[in-house]
Amino acid sequence: MDLWKTLEIYREIGLKYLYEIRAYVNGLCSGMEAWQLITVTFVTTLLAVWLYEFLFQSESLISRFKIQCIKISRKLPFIGVQIQKKLDKAVDDMISTMLCLKDGISYVKALPAKGLEQAKVLQKVKEYNSLGNVPWDNGKISGAVYSGEERLTELFVKVYAEFAWSNPLHVELFPGVQKMEAEVVRMTCTLFNGGPESCGSMTSGGTESILMACKTYRDLAFKKGIKHPEILAPNSVHAAFDKAAHYFRMKLVHIPLDKKTMQVDVKAMAKAISQNTAMLVCSAPNFPHGIIDPIEDVAKLAVKYKIPFHVDACLGGFLIVFMKKAGFPLQPFDFGVKGVTSISADTHKYGYAPKGSSVIMYKNEKYRHYQFFVAPDWQGGIYASPTIAGSRAGGIIAACWATMMHIGEDGYVKATKKIIETARFIDSELRKTKNIFVLGKPQVSVVAIGSDSFDIFQLSNSLSTKGWNLNNLQFPSSIHMCITLQHIKPGFATQFIKDVRESINEIMKDPRAKTTGKGAIYGMAQCIPDRSMVTEVVQCYLDCLYRTDDASNNKHLNSPPVPP
Ligand SMILES: *Cc1c(COP(=O)(O)O)cnc(C)c1O
Repeated sequence: MDLWKTLEIYREIGLKYLYEIRAYVNGLCSGMEAWQLITVTFVTTLLAVWLYEFLFQSESLISRFKIQCIKISRKLPFIGVQIQKKLDKAVDDMISTMLCLKDGISYVKALPAKGLEQAKVLQKVKEYNSLGNVPWDNGKISGAVYSGEERLTELFVKVYAEFAWSNPLHVELFPGVQKMEAEVVRMTCTLFNGGPESCGSMTSGGTESILMACKTYRDLAFKKGIKHPEILAPNSVHAAFDKAAHYFRMKLVHIPLDKKTMQVDVKAMAKAISQNTAMLVCSAPNFPHGIIDPIEDVAKLAVKYKIPFHVDACLGGFLIVFMKKAGFPLQPFDFGVKGVTSISADTHKYGYAPKGSSVIMYKNEKYRHYQFFVAPDWQGGIYASPTIAGSRAGGIIAACWATMMHIGEDGYVKATKKIIETARFIDSELRKTKNIFVLGKPQVSVVAIGSDSFDIFQLSNSLSTKGWNLNNLQFPSSIHMCITLQHIKPGFATQFIKDVRESINEIMKDPRAKTTGKGAIYGMAQCIPDRSMVTEVVQCYLDCLYRTDDASNNKHLNSPPVPP
């Protein structure tokens, strides 16, 4: 009864204020004509919408202010020129290491008027193949070549030849290739604990697998009435998700990591979930630090809020599925975890198949339908394709199938055991090394290190003088080594550790020394607040990859254009 009385009192107070407000507003408008009232309302609404859109953007107000200042300063007569000079220098520095600047190299710019003899072509191919100056087959590179074993190469090249003309787009002509694709997808689903409903497609690589997952969930979100679909993914997620967001007009919301474990912060992920969330993402493991995100915890969120959940196992998919049998059990990460709706795994990484193949898997066919494309009205016939490509290389599918069949479970388990043993050894030795630290607790094949005592890019520079080629990472500055079958030979890991320690000893003689070369560019690039400036420089780099003018003409490189 008391409750009713209280409510009654509140109602009366509320009504009283309502009357007062009404009287006040009416008083304000008493002298106004109807057209004035309409105009004022209209303009106020417009202003409110504008203010809302100005204040609440994905980029914070402060950082937009900074970028605006830089944009303006680039147009000022003196400072603008200075900035442009710095940019030009950055471009010059970056491309000075590139092939296009080498003296004596000339490019083919038109078809040979008369076709070359086969022997001549083969001889030229040998020349091209010897252009690189980083030998990838001495094993001193991080990742990139996951096996390189000669007998395997022989096998898949033979198989490729058999299917060189095939194209799964024409099922009636090449049913064999279709069968192989279906079997590669099924074998992979089985590895990831997918039930009989699980399904998928082969794609051209991890990026396409990820693009397909994002496109699938975007279309599913559209179906649910979500107008601005968002991807929630860890800061450490692969850039292919940025690409997907860019291509498919989605918004990628980056979720911060726990600084100690380098896993995604699940609480922050939960907080970021909104009406617009189209999908959640975890990596197993991620590219930068080789860390597996807390998949079971994120899966709980996915179930609770009924959001699709993609696990990116592109890098280590064909390691983690064999780790239990190899004696290194992991937390669950596959379709056995309730809430996981799709997984990407690259056959062309630790599947040891030639480049150009990957698998995207879904929990069931309902999801996969959103991936497919059908043009029922095309004049060329009813057109349907499962992935981005139209025609696809049947030879690559066949080569991938042959690789998997040849290596078999026993071969993969053996390879995994050796790789993980090597990675764990390197991890534990690096932890014993002074002046550096290992990021998080990597469980698979990548070990990333940073330093509080010196600029870590000095270490990658120093190691490169010893023939090593490691990956530079940013935010935070670190470098990583990705262990592959190239690194399992006896004595190899100890040599790596020895070289790292030697390099650190040299660096610690003068830890404040200025970093030079590629490392310096990485360090500098992280400090530029206007990221579009970095993009400009890198676009010039990409342009340079396609340059075919002769070395002597290369002195005047295109400067990055001043933005409008
Ligand atoms: C390599 C990689 C990808 C992308 O694969 P590509 O084959 O290079 O397109 C995606 N995610 C992770 C974690 C990767 O390491």
